[in-house]
Amino acid sequence: MGSVSIREVGPRDGLQNEDPVPVEAKVRLLDALGRTGVRRIEAVSFVHPRAIPQMADADEVWDAADKVDGVRYSALVPNSRGAQRALAAGFTEVEVVVSASDTHNRRNVNRSTEESLDDIAGMIGELHRHGATAEVIISTSFGCPYEGDVDPVRVAGIVDRVVADGADRVSFGDTTGMATPRRVREVVSLVRDRQPELPLLLHFHDTRGTALANILTALELGVTEFDASVGGLGGCPYAPGATGNVATEEVVHMLHDMGIDTGIDLDTLIEVAALAQEIVGRELPSGVLRAGPRTRLVAG
Ligand code: MG
Repeated sequence: MGSVSIREVGPRDGLQNEDPVPVEAKVRLLDALGRTGVRRIEAVSFVHPRAIPQMADADEVWDAADKVDGVRYSALVPNSRGAQRALAAGFTEVEVVVSASDTHNRRNVNRSTEESLDDIAGMIGELHRHGATAEVIISTSFGCPYEGDVDPVRVAGIVDRVVADGADRVSFGDTTGMATPRRVREVVSLVRDRQPELPLLLHFHDTRGTALANILTALELGVTEFDASVGGLGGCPYAPGATGNVATEEVVHMLHDMGIDTGIDLDTLIEVAALAQEIVGRELPSGVLRAGPRTRLVAG
């Protein structure tokens, strides 16, 4: 029944939202993920070390990591300085980010969404001039912790704008786990109507237990690209102790049972989820890590 492209975001989005871990542990995680069969990994972000100390060693981590053949690695950048660092490090896939919600955007980068979109237009041009692709991540696409509901028409308008500015792809972040199947349907249908050729990627959080339902809904709408984080690394930035990113092995476990190929070896991935848990030193929220896959039977 076809295939799905999963981008593993544990090394970047996951570890960025955990207590800092040493370079060696980050490299171990990246290398182990590269051997699971996953084809895309968000490796690091190039952000100011004062803003996000967890990523201060991005260059060092990336230098030391194995670049596994057949795996596409990407980096996230908040601004043009970060884009220059990503290009200098050799990345050819770069993600930039803007919030659909004006309040969320101002709290993050002290600018309106509109002002960030102007910056992003410049960054897309710069990335293209250096032969890299530019993905625009639209965070709070399904709801904002400050404003509440976000109008899908506003989200679709941002998509139109960044596509006009040359974005190669767009992804939709459920930054605080406010998405539900109904809201996924609204956003994806509207964007698809207006941009039928645009590759879409969805990034769900399982903060309120809806991540797999959202993925299933998006699959039914024809979306085949999803972010996920091994073990569910990375908590919710607005609710201490709550679940953040959907766990990669939970997504893979469901998809494989549906006959959908991901290229990922589930048993190997579960071993890496256990490694991720050991590295961050806290119990991760993944059900498939805790219970094993449904094919693992109880002895006796
Ligand atoms: Mg996330």
